Amino acid sequence: MSFKTRLILSYVVMFVAPIILTIIAAAVMVVINVRAVAGSYGFEFKGNPVKQVMEKNQEAFDNIKVVASENPDVLRDKMYLENLEKELNKLNTSAVVRINNNIIYSSNNLKRLDLNEVLPEFGSATSGSYERALLGNEVTFMRHQDFYFTDKSQGTVFFITDMTPILKRVGRVVLYMCVVILLILIATDGILTYYVSKGVLRPIETLKNAANQIEEGNLEFEVKPASEDEIGELCTAFEKMRVKLKESINLQMQYENNRKELISNISHDLKTPVTAIKGYVEGILDGVADTPEKTERYIRTIYAKASDLDKLIDELFLFSKLDLNNLTFNFEQVDIKEYLEDCVQELSLGLEKDNISLNLNTEKITNPFVLVDNEKLKRVIINIVENASKYMDKEEGKIDIRLEENDDKVIIEIKDNGQGIPKEDIPCIFDRFYRTDKSRSSLTGGSGLGLAIVKRIIEEHEGKVWAESEEGKGTSIFFTLKTIKK
Ligand code: ATP
Ligand code: MG
Repeated sequence: MSFKTRLILSYVVMFVAPIILTIIAAAVMVVINVRAVAGSYGFEFKGNPVKQVMEKNQEAFDNIKVVASENPDVLRDKMYLENLEKELNKLNTSAVVRINNNIIYSSNNLKRLDLNEVLPEFGSATSGSYERALLGNEVTFMRHQDFYFTDKSQGTVFFITDMTPILKRVGRVVLYMCVVILLILIATDGILTYYVSKGVLRPIETLKNAANQIEEGNLEFEVKPASEDEIGELCTAFEKMRVKLKESINLQMQYENNRKELISNISHDLKTPVTAIKGYVEGILDGVADTPEKTERYIRTIYAKASDLDKLIDELFLFSKLDLNNLTFNFEQVDIKEYLEDCVQELSLGLEKDNISLNLNTEKITNPFVLVDNEKLKRVIINIVENASKYMDKEEGKIDIRLEENDDKVIIEIKDNGQGIPKEDIPCIFDRFYRTDKSRSSLTGGSGLGLAIVKRIIEEHEGKVWAESEEGKGTSIFFTLKTIKK
């Protein structure tokens, strides 16, 4: 669930839950109190007890009305009135009987009051209707019935219902409800705040921790997203950033190591021919080369070493330019068939001297047009063919160049029947300065830059380069070039 949804939901719950809980609490409280009220009146609890009290009251009042009209003198009878009183007490009601302004009967609890002041005079109010009256501190509902005794004296019977207990209870219920509502609000807000903040604070705490770890240089501290919301996304983004940072630091370290290795390799490769040249020059100067033939041999060797040096410096220069992307490529449309035919013609002469034949097979090509930098591609072909001839161990050397078409590219394979490359070395031969142990110990010169240059040039052509080889049998170097539709 997204954090936004969770927030909206929590707001809704924060609004709805207190309402529902308040309704439930109010219902429970009403039921409990209604039961209590019903109990206090001695009723069975069924429905509204106030209504029941009113009905019973009405019944009793109707009875007294009948008695007052049919047999009014009974209302002078103390015994009758005491019995009536007992019945009325159950309804929280008291009775008062007045004859000509004299109160001849009143309930015990009313005796201490001056009822004359409160009770309406004979005929001054409508009989039977309810009136609100304050008796002492008690709130009451009062109704009365005027009548005449048989001796024509004016009689009034009053029913006074004490509302105070019910009102006190209502007051208590209202107070309790306020407390309950307050508790419900505190509880729902507390619980929801806890749940919402748990989803935010904990991950933020973890993130803070992770940031501190990174600051201290520990890039291994993994942050796992605990949820799928925005906070989870933040954790994922943070984790991605950590991984990227780690990778970039590792890469940096690798670059640094490569740089050190490069400097050590360059110094070594430059030093070897220079030491040889120095040795031969010393030989001449010291007179070791004492015959003209010897001197010539020395000078020829010096020349060869200087050429090696020159070649190495050229390669280094080219590679460093390629590596720094400082070399501009001039791409032109070329017919690869014709291009390779020219190359083969050019290279064949030199190879024939070493008894190596160079063949070209372009049969499978229908669209020979590719976009290449002429000069750089020549470097690629020369470097690969040079390797094939340099690492040739067969009497009859064979180099086959084969072209194949695949979707929008041409695959060029340069296959030799030379010494081959050990399996474990194949993935490394395109690395700069990489030479197999065999070629390091052999007499073949080289710096290990040839194939690294090939790889960079092919990459600039948006192509791929790879090798297949079998020790003792030979090697195939493949590379691809993108074709252009004619
Ligand atoms: P450079 O080309 O810079 O003079 P190099 O030939 O040693 O030196 P690369 O051309 O990069 O360097 O080749 C890397 C290594 O791969 C070589 O040293 C050699 O061990 C191996 N290798 C490359 N091509 C062949 C091949 N056709 N047959 C056998 N081994 C090869
Ligand atoms: Mg080479």
